[in-house]
Amino acid sequence: MNFKSLDITKLDRRTFLKVAAAMGAATFIGTYKADIVKALELSDTNIVWLEGADCCGCSESFLNAAYPDVIQAITRLGIYVGYHETLMMQQGVFVDGRLVGTSELNSELALEEYMTGKKPLDVLVIEGSIADGPEGSGMYTTVGGHPFKELVERCAKQASYVVAIGSCATYGGIPAAKGSVTGNMGAQFLQTAKGGFLGANYVSKAGLPVVNIPCCPAHPDWLTLTLASIIIGKGGLIELDRYNRPTVFFPPDYTIHENCPRRGFYDLGQLDTEFAEGHCLWKLGCKAPITHADCATRLWNASVNMCTQAGSPCIGCAEPVFPDGTSPFYVGMEMMSTLAGVDIDTIAKVAIGAAAVGVGAHAVRRIVMKENE
Ligand code: SF4
Ligand code: SF4
Ligand code: SF4
Repeated sequence: MNFKSLDITKLDRRTFLKVAAAMGAATFIGTYKADIVKALELSDTNIVWLEGADCCGCSESFLNAAYPDVIQAITRLGIYVGYHETLMMQQGVFVDGRLVGTSELNSELALEEYMTGKKPLDVLVIEGSIADGPEGSGMYTTVGGHPFKELVERCAKQASYVVAIGSCATYGGIPAAKGSVTGNMGAQFLQTAKGGFLGANYVSKAGLPVVNIPCCPAHPDWLTLTLASIIIGKGGLIELDRYNRPTVFFPPDYTIHENCPRRGFYDLGQLDTEFAEGHCLWKLGCKAPITHADCATRLWNASVNMCTQAGSPCIGCAEPVFPDGTSPFYVGMEMMSTLAGVDIDTIAKVAIGAAAVGVGAHAVRRIVMKENE
């Protein structure tokens, strides 16, 4: 089923169930059918959206969602954003060092109600990576004077589900890249290593690990559909890969290269050496052959375009090793000795899993090119 053109807010229940089945949840539907119908009518989901070391680009991406747009998602899916640091009109108001007002008027108090369990916290969305430094204090990233990591820890204890959005929150991203002195990390991973801030064994109240929706920024569909699946399916619709990415958006045995609009040029060997020549971007550093995401079929900007289509090589931002393992961004893989931390010649000669199968063929191209020089 093609999710690209779906407006999930307009689906009748029968179609929704088909969508759910296409997302790999056939057994779920049989078990929870009545709950799904009830949830569609009565869903009332409290979301707390925290931002740490981030650029706010993932919030902005979500606000630019098109099918459905953010208003539809909020009104039809019963999503109540109880706290969002960028979008909330009011922030903490202090008089003589003490918070004043009520939780309706004061975002600091509103957040406190979720962190203490006074209000139910259904979904915690984390944007931005989590600083541990200096010396374990977490003070390199603060919100309202509190270490960000403290807010994450308190909210994660109360949340039924936790969703990390963007490369920063999932795997550390740019704030945790080589040379960082802040001790930044993702919510449950640091690049490919499980653990991160909440630890390898963390599960939310509903029993799920942190659901990771990477990319820089994350596609709004990925978050909206994940939230819908969580709200309606009690998490049962979500199948995760080894890096906790929903496999429906980040298929383990599929790379962006397979459906790239420029794929025909690659197959013909028309590989550009300058930008804007209009052919394949392989020699300009395209990392789509090792990147698992549905960018080329879902498309971005309301299903209009995507990176390689627009002439920009994929920089592999859906992968846990981004950015260290996929950089330098605009250098062809032939020129790199390692890729995603693995020696390219080794990748070419030894099949080491789904990620390597795609790149293996390309690395063979590299070896053949070298041998013919
Ligand atoms: S993942 Fe990228 S877009 Fe999202 S907050 Fe981090 S730097 Fe910004
Ligand atoms: S290498 Fe990049 S630009 Fe070329 S076909 Fe593959 S995905 Fe498209
Ligand atoms: S095409 Fe590549 S760089 Fe662009 S959003 Fe998708 S994974 Fe990121």
